Amino acid sequence: MTTDTQSIAALVSEAHSLFAATPGGANASYIPYLASVPSTLAGLAVVTADGQVFEAGDSKYAFAIESISKVFSLALAMEDIGPDALRQKVGADPTGMPFNSVMALELHDDKPLSPLVNAGAMSTVSLVKASTAEERWARILGMQRDLAGRQIELSDEVNQSEQTTNFHNRAIAWLLYSAGTMYSDAMQACDVYTRQCSTLITALDLATMGATLASGGINPITKKRVLTAANIPHILAEMTMEGLYDSSGDWAYTVGLPGKSGVGGGILAVMPGQLAIAGFSPPLDPVGNSVRGQRMVAHVAKALGLNLYRVPGA
Ligand code: GLN
Repeated sequence: MTTDTQSIAALVSEAHSLFAATPGGANASYIPYLASVPSTLAGLAVVTADGQVFEAGDSKYAFAIESISKVFSLALAMEDIGPDALRQKVGADPTGMPFNSVMALELHDDKPLSPLVNAGAMSTVSLVKASTAEERWARILGMQRDLAGRQIELSDEVNQSEQTTNFHNRAIAWLLYSAGTMYSDAMQACDVYTRQCSTLITALDLATMGATLASGGINPITKKRVLTAANIPHILAEMTMEGLYDSSGDWAYTVGLPGKSGVGGGILAVMPGQLAIAGFSPPLDPVGNSVRGQRMVAHVAKALGLNLYRVPGA
């Protein structure tokens, strides 16, 4: 990377001041907790593959990880069963449908296609090696903690809010089970999936988690090896295909970096070998991606010239 430390710091501040108050969007309302988070919050963080940290705004506000957790459970399941089995059992294609679509399952013989939508994420949780719900949960939480380099915790408040309203996900879990694409007890996978969505992370945690992917699996802050390097290109490809749900194609076209968003307002983009950019702000667009988060992250990526598809002269 040709960019120096000062310019990254300046760009992170600039992106935050340009877009932290962008109007539009609304907090997720289908999970009661998320509706109550202050909509004005906005934070941004960059962590480089060699451990430099840049932050602006509410980068230390702890928000619900939600769908972004799918990336990290995918990483764990891939450690357990390998990339070939993961692709065969879950898939690696975009569904082109909303993240909680039942129709996507109906259209594809109940194969979830992507580990980054709710169906595929629950199927992926069921592939994590564990003999009890508590062991499955401990391993998934442990993965989130190792990637962030911090003792990430479950929020009982978020978890309660989701466990008491997740009927649609329970229905999806049973559909998968009936089709043979759920590999543990269906309600155990749904329960643990719901818990993994209910941990609290900051934009700084998220950028560190992404930087661990960018660096080849070694957490750049703690220096611990968390993931097998050879799995990471597969994880980043899944993020490109479905990380921003049914606007993943638009994100690839305009930003060109593997990304992942969550309905808690978090969004992550990873430039392999270099750095990760993480934004947070609760108001979402109709697809479920943070309005301001997308703008802040895209601004930093573009200004730094980071785009997987970039060619000389572009
Ligand atoms: N827990 C949420 C759900 O399952 C996560 C969805 C998301 O972030 N897109 O509906």
